[in-house]
Amino acid sequence: MCVNAGLPVGDNLSREALSNFPEFAVRNEAWGSFIFVRSLGRYYALDKQMSNLLLAYRGEGLSQDKDERLDQLYRAVYGNADACDKSKEALNRKNIQQVVMLLEARGVVKDSRFLGKFVDNVVPDILQAEDEENEDAEKRKLVAPLSVNLQLTRTCRNHCRHCWVLQMPSADGARELDKKEVKELIERLVASGVFVINFCGGFAVGRKDFAELVKYAIDKGMYVNVSVEGAALTKEVIANLISLEVRNYRIGLAAGNVTTWDNMRRPNNEKAEKSSSSRDRFVKRVYDFLMRHKQSKHSAKIAFRVAVVKTNSGEYLNMAQMLRDILSEIKLKIGDGFKKGDVVLHLDPAWAVSPSNDGNLFLNENEIKDLIAWVNNNNADGQYPFIIETRAKEKSLAKRHTLDGFEEPGGFRSCFISWNGGMYPNAEWSLTRKLDKDNDIRQHSIGDIWLNNDFSNFRQHFDRMQLGL
Ligand code: SF4
Repeated sequence: MCVNAGLPVGDNLSREALSNFPEFAVRNEAWGSFIFVRSLGRYYALDKQMSNLLLAYRGEGLSQDKDERLDQLYRAVYGNADACDKSKEALNRKNIQQVVMLLEARGVVKDSRFLGKFVDNVVPDILQAEDEENEDAEKRKLVAPLSVNLQLTRTCRNHCRHCWVLQMPSADGARELDKKEVKELIERLVASGVFVINFCGGFAVGRKDFAELVKYAIDKGMYVNVSVEGAALTKEVIANLISLEVRNYRIGLAAGNVTTWDNMRRPNNEKAEKSSSSRDRFVKRVYDFLMRHKQSKHSAKIAFRVAVVKTNSGEYLNMAQMLRDILSEIKLKIGDGFKKGDVVLHLDPAWAVSPSNDGNLFLNENEIKDLIAWVNNNNADGQYPFIIETRAKEKSLAKRHTLDGFEEPGGFRSCFISWNGGMYPNAEWSLTRKLDKDNDIRQHSIGDIWLNNDFSNFRQHFDRMQLGL
């Protein structure tokens, strides 16, 4: 990490973008804290001692004198614990000295100042009490999720048979979160120490306030991911996303072949445009998008995500070749604002949740094995200028739950907030419940819902599933 005036200038992120907010933020947890590094979009866990050391930088309390400051920091971390053991004290002081040097080198602190921001979120009593009994930090609950999938809308101009969004329970009288509510939600998330957000849909880009909301989240210091249908990348949308320096995209890809594309996207829609225009428009717009990214020199991670069902399962090669052709046409090379691994083709089985499943839609166990084998065989170095991945894992279908085989952090590290303000452990959980007062973000705080019975039940249920009980 390069360091300049306390702000890492990494991955081509412009100084202008960084100037609006600090690079680091610290949020409290019962067992210590997280420090969030914005340019990386990552949290790092700090134990109690490390947290106390950083907290000592809060306010104006630390001395300008280096030795005195070291003394203050030592007391903040160890108190009088080493009073009777001078050799231990010397060792611990040396530890503190080294940690401070490291923090200074990374631009986290400078002299007596912390160069980030303390969220100052409150840790609820219930977590404090649990912490005393629980030695295993990995299993401890968090005060809030680390990331949020925010569904800006459930409407979509496509009518995919496998679509889980279309299976969400009807919500009489419920309405979409409006612009003001989404902005308030963003502020509430940041105040709770949640700094990673994924804007998804439906057809999220179709909201008139889409760019404004993305900008709002970035201005508040969030690390933003945008899920977008490739064909929706109009010149205006591309210009907005590039100027906002969004650095993480999930772009939906349906198929490689025109007929399959049409069968995936609008199987029963008589008003569907001619099939060739939908797929061709995808190619053209993704080309424009990648070209603009190349020219902007801003790094971005771009995942092309395919929901694999029987309809498009014969198209792995076509899709990979289509993507390779686009990349080779714009002569994208590693170093053009992209690093190896920044472009990924994700081939994941679609959730088996649609009632349109007549046995001919979702992959069976053998087809999942075939998918995994294809990904393994075709991901050899140099074969494609991108990485091919799948989260599918072989598992007996007899025991299969729709979340099995996925490294699903929902409910444990992330959550899903639906178009109408329902907060759920993950999107799938939202399919089983209507919005009610217990999970309505208009009625409760993020932290309260995160720790409520529904989330607790989910965690216990999911743990049992993992254990095969
Ligand atoms: S494009 Fe995505 S959101 Fe729209 S219908 Fe298809 S799967 Fe659903």
